[in-house]
Amino acid sequence: MDLIQSYDGEAVSSSPDSSPPGIITRLWPKTKCIETIVTGIMSQHIPALDYYSNKLPLVSKVYASSEAFYGLNLNPLSKPQHVSYTFLPNMSYFEFIRVDADGEDTSEIVDLVDVTLGHYYEPLVTNYSGRTMSQHIPALDYYSNELPLVSKVYASSEAFFGINVNPLSKPQHVSYTFLPNMSYFEFIEVDDDGETTGEIVDLVNVNTGTSSGEKKIFPANDNFEDILLGLALSSLIMSKHVDGYKQGKVMIFKFIQPISTTPCGLPLAPSITIIMKSKNYRSPGKRSTTPDEIIMCTDPKQSMYCQLLCGLVQRDEVVSVGALFASVLVQIIRILEKYWKELCSNIRSGRLSDWITDHCCRDSVSIILGEPNPELADLIENECGQESWQGIVSRLWPKTKCVETIVTGIMAQYIPALEFYSDKLPIVSSIYGSSETFFGLNVNPLCKPQHVSYTFLPNMSYFEFIHVDADGEATGEIVDLVDVKLGAYYEPLVTNYSGSLYRCRVGDVLHVTGFYNNAPQFRFVRRKNTVLSIFVESTTEEDVLKALDRATVVLESSDLMLTGFTCFGDVSTVPGHYVFYLELKAKVNNDTNVLLLDEKVLVEYCCVMEESLSSFYRSLRRKDGPIGPLEVRVVQQGTFDSLMEFFVTRGASITQYKTPMCINSAETLKVLEDKVLARFFSDKSPPT
Ligand code: AMP
Repeated sequence: MDLIQSYDGEAVSSSPDSSPPGIITRLWPKTKCIETIVTGIMSQHIPALDYYSNKLPLVSKVYASSEAFYGLNLNPLSKPQHVSYTFLPNMSYFEFIRVDADGEDTSEIVDLVDVTLGHYYEPLVTNYSGRTMSQHIPALDYYSNELPLVSKVYASSEAFFGINVNPLSKPQHVSYTFLPNMSYFEFIEVDDDGETTGEIVDLVNVNTGTSSGEKKIFPANDNFEDILLGLALSSLIMSKHVDGYKQGKVMIFKFIQPISTTPCGLPLAPSITIIMKSKNYRSPGKRSTTPDEIIMCTDPKQSMYCQLLCGLVQRDEVVSVGALFASVLVQIIRILEKYWKELCSNIRSGRLSDWITDHCCRDSVSIILGEPNPELADLIENECGQESWQGIVSRLWPKTKCVETIVTGIMAQYIPALEFYSDKLPIVSSIYGSSETFFGLNVNPLCKPQHVSYTFLPNMSYFEFIHVDADGEATGEIVDLVDVKLGAYYEPLVTNYSGSLYRCRVGDVLHVTGFYNNAPQFRFVRRKNTVLSIFVESTTEEDVLKALDRATVVLESSDLMLTGFTCFGDVSTVPGHYVFYLELKAKVNNDTNVLLLDEKVLVEYCCVMEESLSSFYRSLRRKDGPIGPLEVRVVQQGTFDSLMEFFVTRGASITQYKTPMCINSAETLKVLEDKVLARFFSDKSPPT
């Protein structure tokens, strides 16, 4: 028997039976707790540990298995019999089989968000490699059989690949079943001679090019568990903050693009399309007013019309209205303005318009449309026929609690229009993501748009940050997510898990505003590059948005509303000058649909814009200076819809569409120039 010296010098046996009580506290007198799992089968050791430690707190910290890390004990000093583990929803995709008191399956399977207090469950794990591990991996049973080793496993010093699930097969028939959770495996296709014939990527992702100005394509695989998880978390946050959110339906407009192929045959599409078409995509089902079949229709006009129709028919159940980006939501409202009479006629007759030719759309809309409903048609006609469309969203969907759409960054320009249409319902910017990666969530969804910060989810990619100064210039320092400093500005770098992006610069500037526990929170400041520069000045996206915000007050005084905006630096004139294209709308509809433009108001608008730009710009705008008077070109209604169509026909995704802040290509400018109604110039130099 091993002997150790007791605290007071006497030799004692190390066997538990003969150790004196409190031996731990006597040997390690400053010990404050015993960190060991004492739940489940380990609870049998509680009396022994109490005895040895003189009842120091026994802390069961984590609940985990080889398949997944499940959760943490947030109350570590609680008594062992009171320990509960808080599940970390980002660890795996968790589902639960309801079991009765005897542990027998009841065949009901629910999501983590749907478990009920007091019920018993067995967890099911789907891990990030996309493989359902559920109760057990049957193949592993074979591994423990006493069989000739040579036919059991396929492994190397780099990885354990797989096992032979048919161990009694003849040697020449042995195949190995790969265990996808062992490593991340990719395969290079080779021909009979072992020569490489293909690529190691599953598909190619294309970003829309509407935020960065140019399209980027990059390799991806079809493992979207992390992104789907981010979206699921965002929905959980909404349920927590918005009363009744889970009880109603969401009317969130989504669109997909046709999938094209690269020259070597790989599927190519924007990320939202790829995600929604992936086998792991989980449809919101009856939680959404739009059946998936409509979203899968690649004709945007038919899809938009049908999504609106389904939303109107189910108006009493809608608790949230939205689209990923505000620019799209504003466009949907314009479509509603154009088609409300036809939508009402469809509802009145219970018959969908003939121009909807997509069979899947027709079938699913017909089910929702049901019998003729003249009362509902009258009600909608009455609301839409009113002179002003102020509060139209809350009037048509009276139980709506919020508008879910991103209004940070360049989307901030749509806040006044959305406030007008929704009668100031909360506007929720819930996520920050890109084609490259999902970054984070707004954990305080009901805060004002100007206070939105996104909490980064550290498991989405490996994030690093280039420190940038106030002008967005890199200072050279690169830090990890854990090392970002409060108040500092950074540009994120993304290295993703599939290994296809290494330190990819996304081009956004973020400002650290706080921490949620230890996870940094960032305010989206702007896209990185200078938007406008005529001389040596550098006017950023943030400068333009601030100026636009201040000038909005001038428009409001004249009953006009901004519904679309972009700009460009016109150097064809001497001196060069800033040009802002504005699409405006009267708050009160007049039958003629003619926009009444007051010259005084629009000249004043130009002046306020200039006064709000940087002091450097203002100093260059002096009389006979190198920058000429700022110009506003008012364009016809629908111009920004045409601009969106222009980008969509070139492969941009509608769901991810962002009106470009600045236009640089002559081809794109032409879309706007053809629709200019009137021009106005600032009539005085701004104060310096
Ligand atoms: P894309 O990859 O084409 O979908 O564009 C991604 C870009 O959209 C990001 O890099 C940001 O510039 C912008 N973006 C995405 N989410 C937000 C957000 N919540 N607030 C502001 N800008 C955003």
